[in-house]
Amino acid sequence: MVFGLCAWMLYKSHDEARHYAVETSQNITLIAQRDIQRNIEILSLSLDSLTHRYQHPSFRQLSREQQRSYLFGSTLPAKHVEVMAVLDHAGKVLVSSMPGDARNTYGDRPYFTEQRDKPDLGLYISKPIDAKFARGLQVIVLSKRLSNEDGSFAGVVLMALNLSYFRDLFSGLQLGEAGVMSLYSRDGVVYMRLPSTADAIGRDISTSPGFQQIKPMMARDSGSFVVRAITDGVQRLYAFRNIPGTELMVFVGRSEQDIFMHWRDSLYAVASLMLLFSIACVLLLRVVRREFRQRQEAEEKLRTLVRIDGLTGLLNRRALDDMLAALWGRCRRQEGSFSLLFIDVDYFKFYNDNYGHQQGDEVLVAVAQTIAGQLPRSSDIAARYGGEEFIVVLEETDADGALLVGEKIRAAIEQLNILHARSQCGHVTASIGAATYRRELYADIDAVLNAADAALYQAKADGRNRVCSAGPTRQGLL
Ligand code: GH3
Ligand code: MG
Ligand code: MG
Repeated sequence: MVFGLCAWMLYKSHDEARHYAVETSQNITLIAQRDIQRNIEILSLSLDSLTHRYQHPSFRQLSREQQRSYLFGSTLPAKHVEVMAVLDHAGKVLVSSMPGDARNTYGDRPYFTEQRDKPDLGLYISKPIDAKFARGLQVIVLSKRLSNEDGSFAGVVLMALNLSYFRDLFSGLQLGEAGVMSLYSRDGVVYMRLPSTADAIGRDISTSPGFQQIKPMMARDSGSFVVRAITDGVQRLYAFRNIPGTELMVFVGRSEQDIFMHWRDSLYAVASLMLLFSIACVLLLRVVRREFRQRQEAEEKLRTLVRIDGLTGLLNRRALDDMLAALWGRCRRQEGSFSLLFIDVDYFKFYNDNYGHQQGDEVLVAVAQTIAGQLPRSSDIAARYGGEEFIVVLEETDADGALLVGEKIRAAIEQLNILHARSQCGHVTASIGAATYRRELYADIDAVLNAADAALYQAKADGRNRVCSAGPTRQGLL
């Protein structure tokens, strides 16, 4: 139950962490999208303004130097604009912000041909290209069409934008460890990547397995997905968004490691607590079990003690009664037989009087042990009936068998040779009465006991230290 609750909570917080990360990344892409879009608009307006100035009627009356200053004076200081130029209908440079560029021809470049062939193209943004005028510089060229008054193609206005422009736009953004931000064209050219890797910019990754993997998702304008980068093996959650009016898409990727960092902390905390809780439970359970077992053992002991005679160690009267009742029931239900021996120590009152009660107790213990010692069968039972009287129960034993066992017990007690000055024999003896269960003769167990008692009385009367039987024996009925 507790485990289930914890697992549910962890599952929920995991879900929330993911949801929050998606939301945050999508917000970043939204801000990036708007920022790039606005910046491109500004650059596009700069090209419009360049067109406007170039086509101004008074422009041609200016000297070459004045023309350059008039055209580029205010826009060039824009930090990342490396070059601005006007090309004629054949791609030849008419005027350029870069001195020395004047006689070059760029009529074969896509930023020129696209404008020439597609009158309604509007702003064209090129792929990253290595700048011709500076070693190691990567730029993208933005171009717009110049039209004659009759609408025919007159050339293009263009600007070369340093690629670091995009990078500087978003550098400093905190994306966590292993977080990335990138700008791709839909067809798989890298425009920007943070953290920046110089060799990645301008590369066409359209055939790379990683790009192939995410390409289907890029059909939408925005969204999110999880993918493991092939290059660094980091699993990231990406959010992406296209930049309207361009072929560009901005991606923000945050590593799952980072996203679930706090969640993992709580996972460890909860797991540790659960572990401690489990250990505590196991320990507690053990203690409870041990207590329970000890209690059971104590109760068992108590139960046994209640059934055992404290002095002799034989069954007590109460246990005997229970046992006899059960035996009587069994013999009544099914065919079965048993015999009882009623044993009484002779002249024991005199013994006590002579030797003291304490020594009398010792004799009772010795007699009890002797009786038990003569009963090798596990089903035979000896019990203290009270005072110096004992009962022996012999299951499945007829009258002859009972007489035999009785005689053995009698002889064994005699052979203890315990001095008894006031007995006629000179030592401790016992008299024994035997009775054997017979269905037709006895109505209840007390009747059998009484028969044994009567036989005992007979033995006493006959002179003690002897065994008498109440039942029919081979020697005949008593
Ligand atoms: P008999 O031969 O006719 O059986 O004579 P007896 O003296 O044994 O008979 P009686 O039943 O008159 O006396 C039994 C005596 O047993 C009485 C009592 O002093 C003694 N006795 C009973 N219980 C105990 C006991 O627990 N310890 C001791 N030491 N003596 C006991
Ligand atoms: Mg007695
Ligand atoms: Mg007696």
